Order: sequence, then C-alpha cells, then structure tokens
Amino acid sequence: MSGVAVDLEARIRAEVDRTREEVTDTRRVLHRHPELSLEENHTAELVAERSAGLGFTVRAGVGGTGVTADLDSGKAGPTLMLRADMDALPIVERGDGRVARSEVEGVMHACGHDGHVAVALGAATALVGLRDSWSGRLRLCFQPAEEIASGAMPMIADGAADGVDRVLGIHLWAPLETGRVAVKSGVIFGSADSFSVTIQGRGGHGGMPHTTIDPVVVTAQVILAIQSIISRETSPFSPAVITIGRVTAGTAFNVIADSAELLGTTRAIDPSERERLLQRVGEIATAVASGYGAEAKFLRGTGCPPVVSDAATADLVHRAAAATVGEDHVDIAVPITVGDDVACFLERAPGCYFLVGAGHPERGPVPPHHSAYFDIDEAALPVGVETLVRASLDVLG
Ligand SMILES: [Zn+2]
Ligand SMILES: [Zn+2]
Repeated sequence: MSGVAVDLEARIRAEVDRTREEVTDTRRVLHRHPELSLEENHTAELVAERSAGLGFTVRAGVGGTGVTADLDSGKAGPTLMLRADMDALPIVERGDGRVARSEVEGVMHACGHDGHVAVALGAATALVGLRDSWSGRLRLCFQPAEEIASGAMPMIADGAADGVDRVLGIHLWAPLETGRVAVKSGVIFGSADSFSVTIQGRGGHGGMPHTTIDPVVVTAQVILAIQSIISRETSPFSPAVITIGRVTAGTAFNVIADSAELLGTTRAIDPSERERLLQRVGEIATAVASGYGAEAKFLRGTGCPPVVSDAATADLVHRAAAATVGEDHVDIAVPITVGDDVACFLERAPGCYFLVGAGHPERGPVPPHHSAYFDIDEAALPVGVETLVRASLDVLG
C-alpha cells in the first residue's frame, strides 16, 4: 500500500469513528419519535436540518414528505444516491431491555428505518470530512412510505432520481448477526404487490341460502383456488408467495352478505413471474366466482418490482464490506420474499441494496422485522456507515 493509501485508510477510520456517537443518538431520537408512512414530517425536518448543516443543498417536500440533499465536490464525476427510508409501522412496541422505546403509542420503528436514516446521515458526515478524496456529486435521498411501497415513485416523479448514475442503500437485518454484511448481485428482495378482490353475491336470510348467492362461500373457494397458482403453476425453483391478509364480509350470524372483500399481496423473485401471479389471481377469482353465479372484481394496488443489484456495484460493495468487517464476515445474500420500493430507484440507475447484520447474537432468537419485539443491535450502525462510506469512495473515486 502506498503512503497515500495508508493515509486515506486511517482517515476513513477516523471519520467513521467521529460519527459513531451522533449516529447512535440520531437513531434513538428517531426510535422514540416514529412516524407512519406519508406522515414523516418531523423526520423530514430533522434530515433536512442535518443535511443543510453539513453543507448540502436541501430540497424538502419531494413527492410528499421526501427530502433530497445534494453536495457537489466541485470535480467532474458521477452522481451517487444514498437512499434511506424513514417510515415506521402501526405497532405497539413491546419487550424489555431496549436502549430506546417509542414514545408514540401504536407507532414503532419495527423495521430498522430509524437506523437507516442515522446511518445515511453518518455516512454523509464522514464523506464531507473526506471531501478532498472524491469527485462528482452525492445525493442523499430520504424516502417516505417504504412500508406501503408508495414513497419511491412520487419522489421519482418529482425528480429525485434525475441525473443519478448509481444508487446505494442498506437494510439493517436482524436475522443476520451484527458484524456480518450480506451482498448479492441480482435479485435480493422480491417484488411486492397488493390487490383486492370484491366478490359480489346476493344477500338474504341465513336460514334460506338457496334464495341467495353467498359471497362468503365463494370467497372461501377463491382463497383456496388461488393457492394452486403457487403449488401447481409456479416452479419450485422460483420462490413466490400469495397471501390473503384480510377478508371482510357480513354483519350478523344469520344474514348472508351481499358482498365480500379480500385484500392480499403477491411476492416473486423472478421479475417475469410478477405479472403472471397478479394476472392469474384475477383470472381464477373471476372464474371461480362466476361458477357460483357471483361476480369478482379484481383490482391491482400499489407495488414494486424486485430489488436488483447490478454485478459491478455488488462487487464493489462486497469489497467495501470486506474492508470493514473482514472477508469471512461477508455473506452472499439469499433472496428474500419481502419487498422494498428502493427497487424503483434501482430500475432507473444501477446500484446495490445490501443487508447489514443487526441481530443481537447474545440474546438468542431474534424477533422478526415488523414484530412488536423487534430490536436492532446498535453496534450494527457503524458497520453500515463504514461500508457505505467505502463503497461511496469507490464509486466517486
Ligand atoms: Zn418493513
Ligand atoms: Zn424495512
């Protein structure tokens, strides 16, 4: 290693170290004050203020509560986006022994997005300190409404991705032990779509079903029939999921309802499967309902494509992670059937979305993301900062 490289190495470590305390504090502040999707007003204020303080040019209200912040190095080069999602979930936080707890009843950072914002601000702080070592432009992208897959597209429509050449982002990942990073070229998270099916029958007396068309019975058949899309039509080598998360019908035990409504979600790892799953849910629901004399109306809701990292950026992130935690602590990620609308940014510019281990190894089995008992190990935060900083320097070097 040359003297210059040794010097940069020492400076990276020093800059990351310098952010440590503030990153942890920021994560705790956000954890105590979680905000639901599309309501991230205080979080947006915090990131706007911090970014401006670091010398970034801030644009607030991007596609709603989104915030972008740009910093130009003054030297020609690519534009790199660091994307962090900001929203929390409608969950009552439970569990003991946590360093910070939600102070908003019924709202909780149960997916680690508080950490994502803190890590992005930490990486930005370190990169400002290393400003003479990179060229091009850095764009921080603080995205609302990831949990309802409705944050990225409005930001993109409002210009957040314009001029961006590369995208980097992390998801803190509790099932992965702290001190490990998982990276993968290609698909890491599946597509995530939502849909509704309304079954229109003909209501009547619970004691005289032959004079009605019972939408509840039809709904039961539809739920079972659409599962055969996974078990009979989808390759076992192509992971896919159809889940009906909500069923509503009826008003009383002895009344046959007029209609019923199902809300569900589809997930697929293979991008070509995404459209097929939705299409088949619609077709089967319609055909089953009509077999019983009812009518099904299928409506597609919000969704996002699979999260795909390009090979070159995944390689570069792998190197950054290895320099941070050691090669033997970097895993090849296994694709997961959760979704993330960072996918929409990654459709517009190549990049890499990767997992930073945040599971407390000493606490045994880790409560899953979106659980009321979810908690991250804060020791994961500097790992996220350092990996992002190293990867950013590589892109902008
Ligand atoms: Zn989540
Ligand atoms: Zn998440």
